[in-house]
Amino acid sequence: MQQVETIDELREARRQLTGRVGLVATMGALHAGHLSLVEQARAENDAVLATIFINPTQFGPGEDFDSYPRDLQGDLEKFRQADVDLVFMPARALMYPPGYQSYITVEEVTQRLEGERRPGHFRGVATIVAKLFNLACPDVAYFGQKDAQQVAVIRRMAADLNFPLEIVVCPTLRELDGLAMSSRNVYLNDHERAAAACLFRALRAAGDQYEQGRRDPAVLQETLLDILSSEALVEIEYAEVVDPRTFQPLQALYDNPLLLVLAVRIGRTRLIDNALLPWSLNARDGLTATLGEISANSL
Ligand code: AMP
Repeated sequence: MQQVETIDELREARRQLTGRVGLVATMGALHAGHLSLVEQARAENDAVLATIFINPTQFGPGEDFDSYPRDLQGDLEKFRQADVDLVFMPARALMYPPGYQSYITVEEVTQRLEGERRPGHFRGVATIVAKLFNLACPDVAYFGQKDAQQVAVIRRMAADLNFPLEIVVCPTLRELDGLAMSSRNVYLNDHERAAAACLFRALRAAGDQYEQGRRDPAVLQETLLDILSSEALVEIEYAEVVDPRTFQPLQALYDNPLLLVLAVRIGRTRLIDNALLPWSLNARDGLTATLGEISANSL
């Protein structure tokens, strides 16, 4: 596995990669969710290029940029074992040198939910992902459904700005109790970790109702809110039933796939999760579709 830190080194190493190249962009503190993206990239490409960069422009003031978990040596070992070919791990000053002033704004799809609670977040995400696309020149880039709105933003940006690549969305990897894997889960103490399982319980319960024929978004939202609010440690930011293409809330009865989206705070930790309905759309083996395919067909 080759490790590079400068843009010249990256361009040279990228030129040496032959065939179809898959990109997995991360902020490090790797867990099995990240590695599932690498695994899929490995299976579908001739070479895998991974990046580790904690992108300061996607963190707002008062967010956890300074305390975000860092484990560079551990991450490199995990990428090595996952058979990554090339790792790019630039310093902050390389990506945003003095005088830097160019940012990408994606409009409608960033305006609600995460975009509303984290002003500037998606501007930072779209900007760094565009830079990484330009630097890594991948044929295909892999992203997790865990960050569903991020996927929609990146898809929109890639289509609008004519990036010549494919975007693949991979299913959310979960702990045994259903908690979505996240680098931020290490912030949770034991009580908080136990309470965090309610996000998946809420998604599952609303999913079960849907499977039993309760298709009214208001009923599904009520179920989400009931379960989340039964945990004293959980402070709800939002729990909504939205259109997976636009992230607009659904009020009326709806026959197409739905997306349940949640954001909560537990202590000082902010957690997000989501599920597509029908539930089978979340399946690991992608029985019918994933969020990516739904969005791709619709945008
Ligand atoms: P991050 O390091 O948090 O920026 O995540 C890097 C990539 O891994 C993003 O595309 C995430 O959506 C994806 N990812 C994060 N957590 C998971 C998970 N539990 N399952 C699958 N993919 C994930």
